[in-house]
Amino acid sequence: MPLDERSKKIAGDLFKRYYEKAELPIESINEREFGFGDFEKKIAFRHYSFKDPAALKRYLVENAPAFASYSSSLYKYPDARPMEKKLWKGSGLIFDLDASDLHLKCQTEHGRSWVCQNCLDSVKREAIKLMEDFLMPDFGFSKNEIGINFSGNRGYHVHVNSKEIFLLNSQQRKSISDYIAGANIDITRFFPTLGMKGKRLVGPKPSDFGWGGKLANAMVSALNKGVDSLTSLGIDPKIARKLAASKADVIFGITTGNWDKVNIPKKAEFWSNVMSRVAIAQSDSIDKNVTNDIHHLIRIPGTIHGDTGLAGKVIPHASLDAFDPMKDAIVFRQGVMKIQTDKVPAFVMHGEQYGPYDNQTLELPVYAAMYLVLKRVARPVD
Ligand SMILES: [Zn+2]
Repeated sequence: MPLDERSKKIAGDLFKRYYEKAELPIESINEREFGFGDFEKKIAFRHYSFKDPAALKRYLVENAPAFASYSSSLYKYPDARPMEKKLWKGSGLIFDLDASDLHLKCQTEHGRSWVCQNCLDSVKREAIKLMEDFLMPDFGFSKNEIGINFSGNRGYHVHVNSKEIFLLNSQQRKSISDYIAGANIDITRFFPTLGMKGKRLVGPKPSDFGWGGKLANAMVSALNKGVDSLTSLGIDPKIARKLAASKADVIFGITTGNWDKVNIPKKAEFWSNVMSRVAIAQSDSIDKNVTNDIHHLIRIPGTIHGDTGLAGKVIPHASLDAFDPMKDAIVFRQGVMKIQTDKVPAFVMHGEQYGPYDNQTLELPVYAAMYLVLKRVARPVD
């Protein structure tokens, strides 16, 4: 639904005021391409470049765009077009994690455009898993090569900036995202006797490197937690109960590489299924557009998301656990605003619950009112 003119004007003024004070430290700013969006289209204009942070700030204050994005690639001529004329120099690696890719049960209740606390918590866990279970142990990136920011709506962007990946081509980037998504991984690498009649199922140990160790650890941890945890790995409840009943024996088996303590039918399918639950959930579009497309533009950390009025806040690693987007990413902290709502589910902002509302006229703090206006479920009134 398009945003009405009055809402646009109010949002524009608020965005402008934010950008007057905002500091957006951007490395190699003069080598990046920039793109901007309005309230209808996230990238409506691109091929911009700025020589320094002051020039970018001037643009943001003057135009108050609904969305501001930049390239993770660096170019010799970032504003040249077509793309080939920009002369690519290299690119960071970006993972765009969005709650809507997690196919959560809550989303069938509140719809994909709304975001609840469960969505936000789940996608944060996914971001932590990406960093702690994949990027650091398997690829050897250090914490200071990884940046993380809230997307401004319902996800997180994980930026890897390292000499090691700067020159990788799209194909090589694709193999990294495939690995993380558990795609195209041959399960018989970890279970060499899989499908061989009369042979004991030899499998990975928790201490093994990479995917083998991940599968072993996921199983051990789920066994320790109980049946629910096993079924959340995609294991059939009947088998989960059988596994849990002989837990000590199964765990001992896994730690010694003997995965045959419980008889599981259709083993190949079973383990592939478990694997998909341990992998990072990335949608096809993300896979194609962000991680692998070096010409993709992504939200500039610290800028406002035009569908929420929240900031794409940069999060120091030490604060990630405690980070609460509906509090820490709030931008419009002053004043109140009168709105007319549609049907709106309950939500919590700055520690306070609002709603549920059903076609009501009410006065809310500006951040909560604008959140609803930009989500297209309320309009400002006198
Ligand atoms: Zn949800």
